[in-house]
Amino acid sequence: MRTEDIFALGLGLTPPWQVLSQRLDTEKAPHELHLVLGADRGATYPCPTCGRNCKAHDFEEFTWRHLNFFQHHCYLTARVPRVTCPNHGTRRIVVPWSRPGSNFTLLFEQVVMTLAREMPVATVASFVGTTDKRLWRIINHYVAAAMKRVDLSRLRAFGLDETACKRGHRYVTIFIDLDREDRPVVFATEGKGKQTVQLFRDHLITKGGHPNRVLEVVSDMSGSFVAAVEEHFPQADLTVDWFHVVQLFTTAVDEVRKAESKERALPKGTRWGVLKGRETAKTQTQAEALQELEREAFATGIAYRVKEQLRWIRRAETSQAAQWRSTNFLNHASELIAGEPLLKPVAKALKTYKKHLDRILFRWCSWHTNARLEGLNGLFQAARARARGYRNVTNFITMIYLIAAPITDFLAQ
Ligand SMILES: [Zn+2]
Repeated sequence: MRTEDIFALGLGLTPPWQVLSQRLDTEKAPHELHLVLGADRGATYPCPTCGRNCKAHDFEEFTWRHLNFFQHHCYLTARVPRVTCPNHGTRRIVVPWSRPGSNFTLLFEQVVMTLAREMPVATVASFVGTTDKRLWRIINHYVAAAMKRVDLSRLRAFGLDETACKRGHRYVTIFIDLDREDRPVVFATEGKGKQTVQLFRDHLITKGGHPNRVLEVVSDMSGSFVAAVEEHFPQADLTVDWFHVVQLFTTAVDEVRKAESKERALPKGTRWGVLKGRETAKTQTQAEALQELEREAFATGIAYRVKEQLRWIRRAETSQAAQWRSTNFLNHASELIAGEPLLKPVAKALKTYKKHLDRILFRWCSWHTNARLEGLNGLFQAARARARGYRNVTNFITMIYLIAAPITDFLAQ
């Protein structure tokens, strides 16, 4: 068997294509293996539209990066014909080893897609020996193609949350299917607030779904989400995720702590002590800080006590019990914070809680677990890490889809 035939076998070439010649360029580092592909004179090629075998009209030379051959970079070169089809005119044919417009072979791209699911793209780039910019083009293509095939006709409950894409003011809003345990992300878009909800509605319709079939939406307490959901998903009950309730008060505690620390020295260990819940293990310093905050009547200590009462509400077994506890909580907390200007952030959080109480209580009737949106934080972090060094909004969304959208089966094809 000739060397050329062995290469042809390895590439999976089918007639009329064969390996015409091979050359190892040792001037380059790493060395480059160049394989020239071609067909016999007078060969016919399938029309890219109808598959009919046609004669070549003219040729143009193209080169593709292929999988490394041992330690050498490998390139394929071929003169690719345009054919003249009686029905479709003169068209460039599609070669079997690459998709139209790509400078890489299909096998190379497959390896890139497999690696990109496991490690940061910058790492993949240095591993295969190309730029991450080129790899992003490949990954964006395959992920977008796979997302086109996701069927949302049975979607009846979704959750949404927003995150910063990077430092600055670019946001991405993510939509998850609440009935999907694994890989729940069904849509992500740049921006936040009202218009993203409308974009999701439009997306849902193109994917076979219908806004009126959506019966539950879980979100945070931002007013723009609430209004947009009511407008675009009229049949849906809106639930506020408990995670966002806790987040609301945690942020308030932190604001009080920052403001108070400018007026008087806070005990060492305060910051992390108040962030952790009462039932979470703490260091000795953190535990002592909490005791001192209580004893010395720090505003931060009061804010912390208010936040910790949420646990008591959370443990209520029925919606009625949660309502009763919430009323007590609001009254008691208002008394605790009265007359202390430093506690304004807590007053604001209480006001928000009261305003959204019905939606918060709905979680006790909801058939969906409430930890779903909380899990998104881990996803955002993973996507940021994978898109490290090259984080524009498109790449960030692509990485979120690659990690957490239901596209595994579609990527493999
Ligand atoms: Zn044709």
